[in-house]
Amino acid sequence: MKYRRLGNSGLKVSEIGLGSWLTYGKAVTDNTAHDCIHKAYQLGINFFDTANAYEGGKAEEVLGEALKVYPRSSYVVATKLFFPMGDRPNERGLSRKHIVEQCDASLKRLGLDYIDLYQCHRFDPEVPVEETLYALDDLIRQGKILYAGVSEWSAAQIEKAVGIGKANHLRPIISNQPIYNMLERYIEKEVLPVCTEKGIGQIVFSPLAQGVLTGKYKPNTEKPEDSRAANDSTNWVINSYFRNDVLECVQQLNGVAGELGVTLSQLALAWILRHPSISSAIIGASRPQQVEENVKAVDLVLTQDVLDEIENILEKV
Ligand code: NDP
Repeated sequence: MKYRRLGNSGLKVSEIGLGSWLTYGKAVTDNTAHDCIHKAYQLGINFFDTANAYEGGKAEEVLGEALKVYPRSSYVVATKLFFPMGDRPNERGLSRKHIVEQCDASLKRLGLDYIDLYQCHRFDPEVPVEETLYALDDLIRQGKILYAGVSEWSAAQIEKAVGIGKANHLRPIISNQPIYNMLERYIEKEVLPVCTEKGIGQIVFSPLAQGVLTGKYKPNTEKPEDSRAANDSTNWVINSYFRNDVLECVQQLNGVAGELGVTLSQLALAWILRHPSISSAIIGASRPQQVEENVKAVDLVLTQDVLDEIENILEKV
């Protein structure tokens, strides 16, 4: 495994991280989830991502239970808040009240004394950014969280938060967690340049487009059993990728991977890690073998010729 600094902070995260959305506490049994987490840890993954809202907190519980056998200093736990945790008006969003209450609730579910990285899962237009930033700064001062980050904030929202933080001498936002993969590249235009300039690290999610960029979904073919797309409770987002032009393009990318003697998942992850300001690609895994296959991407360096070939293929979708 290789490690990168998370933006300008001193925190080092593995180039491949492991997340728990739609898997742990949901589609995957707790035993299999633990096998994946242990496999990841053994292979050098030190960065584990989750959120309070993943399965109403169950994903945090599964992750915390698996990690408790390891020294606390050897892993980095990132969790998030924003999405509703109840029906009442203050049980959602980025108000000081919800931040303080959910931080305590996440610590309890994870079984931890502190959270390494606490992330605002989305921007909250109903709360002044100052209120959110002061609440996060207080949690850092109290030792309940070590660092703060955001997820899927726009370049303008990030710039505003950085400005307010600096003006008020608050602990800075150190990371952003956006979607990024060969099929979803919106961050390249504004978010990535702004964050690079401000020293904010990217920890990108769905790097394999939820499994589409493994090449296992072929055009005009049944979805493989035991896959996210074949499961009616987990396929609500992945379905948007199921267009013939996309799946055909993915098969061409699969050909490029084959020529290099690697798998498409390894090629897709190495392609992401070509950006120095991307600190980690957060994969999901429904079985330990996927973790084993995917972490090998850290040893793959892509030449300019290969990057150009990939670009030519991606131009078609
Ligand atoms: P990926 O794009 O890595 O997709 C993961 C899924 O792809 C796996 O669960 C598995 O599904 C399949 N897969 C992975 N590797 C292989 C392989 N080698 N061969 C075959 N299939 C494979 O990431 P996710 O979409 O799961 O997102 C990763 C993490 O990012 C989440 O767990 C979460 O922590 C974070 N996230 C954050 C969001 C945010 O808003 N901040 C939103 C979404 C995710 P299967 O075997 O079931 O087909």
